[in-house]
Amino acid sequence: MGIKVAKFGGSSVADGIQLTKTKAIIQQDPDRRYIVVSAPGKRYDGDNKITDLLYLCKTHIEHNLPYDQLFQVVADRYMAVQLNLGVKVDLLKYFDEIKENLKNNPSSDYIASRGEYLNAILIAAFLEYDFVDTADLIRFDSKGKLLMEETDEALRAELSKHERAVLPGFYGSTPDGQIRTFSRGGSDITGSLVARAVGADVYENWTDVSGFLMADPRIVKNPKQIQKISYKELRELSYMGASVLHEDAIYPARMANVPINIRNTNIPEDPGTLITAEGDGDEKHIITGIAGSKDFTVVALYKNMMSSERGFVRRILGILDDYDINFEHLPSGIDTVSVVMADSSINGRLDEVLEEFQSRLRPDSIDVIEDISLIATVGHGMSSRPGVSAKLFTALADAGINIRMIDQGSSEMNIIVGVENKDFEKAIRAIYDAFVE
Ligand code: ASP
Repeated sequence: MGIKVAKFGGSSVADGIQLTKTKAIIQQDPDRRYIVVSAPGKRYDGDNKITDLLYLCKTHIEHNLPYDQLFQVVADRYMAVQLNLGVKVDLLKYFDEIKENLKNNPSSDYIASRGEYLNAILIAAFLEYDFVDTADLIRFDSKGKLLMEETDEALRAELSKHERAVLPGFYGSTPDGQIRTFSRGGSDITGSLVARAVGADVYENWTDVSGFLMADPRIVKNPKQIQKISYKELRELSYMGASVLHEDAIYPARMANVPINIRNTNIPEDPGTLITAEGDGDEKHIITGIAGSKDFTVVALYKNMMSSERGFVRRILGILDDYDINFEHLPSGIDTVSVVMADSSINGRLDEVLEEFQSRLRPDSIDVIEDISLIATVGHGMSSRPGVSAKLFTALADAGINIRMIDQGSSEMNIIVGVENKDFEKAIRAIYDAFVE
């Protein structure tokens, strides 16, 4: 028998209807032995996610406001599923346990984690699988950094005792026994860690879309679906804002060479997107996907003989460090270097940073270009083929778009261009049409 780890996101476990689909998917393949679940998500537009309601409970507690009714709304959602599906489990016992703990103003991580906890208990009973709590298995250090190897060992040891189990996503604990969560959407990471620990044949990530699209459907009409993509390509794309999978979920699976398959609970026959070490490998596909984000600032520093001045770039980075600003790219020439930063990271401190650059670097000139969008065109197929950049730049030129910055990663599978925010959508469409249509 093989082993598949299947993680079901919030919308796949939001109510009885969705859980019935989820159960059918699990039963359809006996290899689906380890199931990781999110808390119930939205059932319809405008609905609340359980996790959001639980964070709201914490806010009420902090402000000394009554929270009983709010917690009851949470509890009722689980009760409704239980009644609807006729699951035999004593949920009241667990609600009481949580309500008791809420009296002592527990951490927001504890409160938020109860969404996954309750759901995993309910779903384990529904599937007749074992419930395995991740609290003691997913381990963080006291600062909240994931302890990857300890977690791997703990998961492996525990799961070897269970033929089939349901595990709650999103949380683990610190050495003092306090519950700690990942950042939002973190159940994807739990699934990946479990997949690594049990040496799964595949890590299936079931959600409400059929995987990744080659471009944002709000910008490109009916973009093609990505059937296969490599971990590295995905990393380049997710970094630029394509978010179906939590970006930290790639690493554990990748370490153990477990392919990740994004699947759609509502269209289970769709093969979705498969993420592997090799990616597509199909020579016909030059690019795999296009992604981008708006609102960056480029600061171009020019200084005569810069290339022979030691430590120039180190000092730039030192200044950014002082301000806790991340840089996205650092394209450079003989006597120039540009620093590309997200406006969210600069956070209104551009003038101060420029003054620091001026006084500590003494450049001959500083040019600032604001309102820049970055667009990454990603694909392994690009490196083996001449003329790809020419095609990309021609497409942009033909669309009348002025390129303000170019950066090609050393991996040669990513060309990043900076364009003005106003040209962002037009540029993505032009690139898509040139390479895909
Ligand atoms: N329930 C958590 C969230 O809403 C974690 C997850 O679903 O992955 O972010």
